[in-house]
Amino acid sequence: MAAFTIVSNLKSRNLMSVCFNLNAKYTTPAVYQNERRIVRDWKNQRHYSTDEDPCLYDVVVVGGGIVGMATARELLNQHPTIKVALLEKEKKLALHQTGHNSGVIHAGIYYKPKSLKATLCVKGLHLMYKYCDSNNIPYKKCGKLIVATDKTECEQLDDLIDRGKKNNVPGMRVLEGHEIKKIEPNCKGVRAIWSPHTGIINYAQVTESMGLEFEDLGGDIHLNFKVTGFRTNKSSNSESERAQYPLEIVGNKKCVKTRYAVVCAGLYSDKLAVMTGCKRSPKIVPIRGEYMLLNDKKVNLVSRNIYPVPNPKYPFLGVHFTPRMDGSVWLGPNAVLAFKREGYRWMDFSIVDFIGTVTYPGFIKLAAKNAKFGMQEMVKSIYFKKQVDDLRKFIPDVTVNDVKRGPAGVRAQALDSKGNLVDDFVFDLNEKTEVGKRVLHCRNAPSPGATSSLAIAELIVQRLNEQFNLCML
Ligand SMILES: Cc1cc2nc3c(=O)[nH]c(=O)nc-3n(C[C@H](O)[C@H](O)[C@H](O)COP(=O)(O)OP(=O)(O)OC[C@H]3O[C@@H](n4cnc5c(N)ncnc54)[C@H](O)[C@@H]3O)c2cc1C
Repeated sequence: MAAFTIVSNLKSRNLMSVCFNLNAKYTTPAVYQNERRIVRDWKNQRHYSTDEDPCLYDVVVVGGGIVGMATARELLNQHPTIKVALLEKEKKLALHQTGHNSGVIHAGIYYKPKSLKATLCVKGLHLMYKYCDSNNIPYKKCGKLIVATDKTECEQLDDLIDRGKKNNVPGMRVLEGHEIKKIEPNCKGVRAIWSPHTGIINYAQVTESMGLEFEDLGGDIHLNFKVTGFRTNKSSNSESERAQYPLEIVGNKKCVKTRYAVVCAGLYSDKLAVMTGCKRSPKIVPIRGEYMLLNDKKVNLVSRNIYPVPNPKYPFLGVHFTPRMDGSVWLGPNAVLAFKREGYRWMDFSIVDFIGTVTYPGFIKLAAKNAKFGMQEMVKSIYFKKQVDDLRKFIPDVTVNDVKRGPAGVRAQALDSKGNLVDDFVFDLNEKTEVGKRVLHCRNAPSPGATSSLAIAELIVQRLNEQFNLCML
């Protein structure tokens, strides 16, 4: 079994390096744990833990987005007899990044070879299709074109082709200009990458499905549970309980006690990491991505994902055409600074979040280096129809009159103190304190985090097995 070592790109700032074994296998349990009391709300198929529940767990997962939910599910798949809970601050799962994204199942073309993103995206794509097939979750394998519109972009496209090959992207092909129209009749370009295995899906639906499966395996989901702190368990009456469940996770309404925890808190991942003594860096900077909607009369112009050749300076893929599962077509997303972590609209403002961002040394350096790009994106956000000009390079038949403002998502973009946008997935754990050494944090899970979620979950559980010896529980 080959061991894969992640030395996070933040190692220089003393974030720990972490060893994971990517080849670990597990068997799905044949026996479900049915002894636990399940209080099911038949109306929405979800059960809730009640106030009388003792709330003692072996592992608690914080964050009910797709990464947290996949991790919780994976824990019970591998360890059917342990007690696992998931804590989510909202009244529903998947309300933030997971429920506000492009819904693309990425094939792994863009990412630096051998990075976690590259490895886990390709693995995650296969796992995602398999999961959806087994659970009757609809998706469309409609494919994707990355289109170069001039000579310079053709050179950049060659780099992407090279990356795609190194990353073992399935079925990838290069198309010359005249071949593009055979795949997407209304699309224009000089050269393109065709990725037939790229798909579209509703990731909130996938997360809900994982949630139900997790509960059927005996897991508890506590919604409306906002984690506000982690501390040593001093409140259990018996000494043996304090020894067995040494960690207390404090919430807005109640506390749970556990042996270990995993935090997958998306836009708040840095704040929760600091709560267990991890470093302040990388900090999460919220970057809003706004979409436009193509009018119903024009949706038939687009049946595949159509992407530009991305600017290699930024981790964003560029404004693209994305067909959605409901038949609509989204155009976007752009990338503008959000003034609030969960700020989906321009007027959403949080003084704490705003001051926290603009006073962070990394942000000041980033802003100084990228002032022009930032301003251009802001202008395009206000005069959103300007983005249509960029998109008309691919689909000339789309005009400004064919689009209207659509929804938005906010990316949890990790930024280091030197002003670098952290590209790869990052994990962190503070070995130095009794509380810290029991809590593993997922500090950066940007796109293609949803595609990769099942593979990230396997990796996290493998890490927990190694670090906490879960097999012995
Ligand atoms: C605009 C946009 C487009 C994207 N497009 C794609 C795409 O096409 N394909 C793709 O693969 N990926 C895409 N992504 C990335 C993808 O959405 C994320 O990688 C993925 O959703 C991350 O999941 P998560 O569970 O880590 O985070 P989230 O979904 O944000 O979940 C984190 C959860 O933690 C909860 N939480 C936070 N703090 C607390 C607390 N104190 N107590 C309890 N709960 C807490 C939050 O409420 C939230 O539910 C996109 C992202 C954005 C924003």
